[in-house]
Amino acid sequence: MNQQLSERIKRLPVSATLAMAAKARELKEQGVDVIGLSLGEPDFNTPDFIKEAAIQAIKDNYSSYPPVNGYLELREAVCFKFKRDNNLDYKPSQVVVSTGAKQSIANVCQVLLNPGDEVLLPAPFWVTYPALTKLCEATFKAIPSSVETDFKITPQQLEAAITPKTKMVFFNSPNNPSGSVYSEKEYRALAEILEKYPDIFILSDEIYEHISYGAKNFSFASIPSMYDRTITVNGVAKAFAMTGWRIGYIGAPEWIAKACTKMQGQITSGANSIAQRAVITALSESPSRIQYMVDEFRARRDLILDLLNDIKGFKANIPEGAFYVFPDVSYFIGKTLKGKPINSAMDFSLYLLEEAHVATVSGEDFGAGNCIRISYAASEDQIIDALKRIKNAVS
Ligand code: PMP
Repeated sequence: MNQQLSERIKRLPVSATLAMAAKARELKEQGVDVIGLSLGEPDFNTPDFIKEAAIQAIKDNYSSYPPVNGYLELREAVCFKFKRDNNLDYKPSQVVVSTGAKQSIANVCQVLLNPGDEVLLPAPFWVTYPALTKLCEATFKAIPSSVETDFKITPQQLEAAITPKTKMVFFNSPNNPSGSVYSEKEYRALAEILEKYPDIFILSDEIYEHISYGAKNFSFASIPSMYDRTITVNGVAKAFAMTGWRIGYIGAPEWIAKACTKMQGQITSGANSIAQRAVITALSESPSRIQYMVDEFRARRDLILDLLNDIKGFKANIPEGAFYVFPDVSYFIGKTLKGKPINSAMDFSLYLLEEAHVATVSGEDFGAGNCIRISYAASEDQIIDALKRIKNAVS
């Protein structure tokens, strides 16, 4: 029967992070005590002030189809947030609210990419970017980086990767999986290259913006020469611990926003009405209301780095944002651990699952085959226990 499935779905890879989570779940169901450090999900509850707004929206009967691009009040709140946090001027007509930032990105790919177009992905990149690119029959080219360069690319690398087929480049800062944050200076240097290529669009995924431990997030679209061809993507999943509410949004040139609205008008008819009402409250309140989560993530980052640095063979950068560490584990590749040959980061990640009962994700699908991603969106006790197990398994 599988043969009858469309070429499109056959071409689509399975999400590596979800695949690892499924394997960990299988082991758990067999009674194994697995510590899951593979998923990109805050382990906090959605703050009460947001939950209360949702309850009020239910009582107020927000139960009809919302506008396809989102309630006007929400798009206004998004514009307010873009101005307050990012120094970006967008009008509500430039904003589209979607069912998670993942759908926002999928919309942008669908409306801009033709078969044969090329997308540039600074590596490491979020696994969904190449998958969505493939769905559009576009191709992608990874621009490699390493732990030595703090997992960032240089302007020279960007320029060398550009071809006449290049249609779009994806930036993601703070980055999943590396946690790296591009500074204003670094982004301006990349923009200088792109100024020479006016037909290239830029997707700037800023969903981890608030989970940042150093400099304030700098939005690529705030560079005036880039504004007219940058799509700024953001959402509430990470900063507000609202992964399940499924709300993301873009700020974009109006013609792109209109096309995205047309696309989702045929696919979802717009995002969930109650969740949208709650997000109005989330975005209108001061980001200081979620600082307690950021502080906690920072403490966990420091803890996990301390523990990792104590294990021979893990080479990590200092992630300035998000909630992942992305150590280079090439030291272990080519070795045999407890009789098991480790020939790739995938082998190593599976070894950690089977031997230490700790779920991580290998870097291959993020475009960095020497690394593994460890999420620290877990309690301090879990992190301490997990790193102790890893140390025992590899020593
Ligand atoms: N962008 C990045 C870089 C992400 O890591 C994620 C979530 N894993 C998303 C976008 C998608 O967010 P949402 O849950 O809003 O679809």
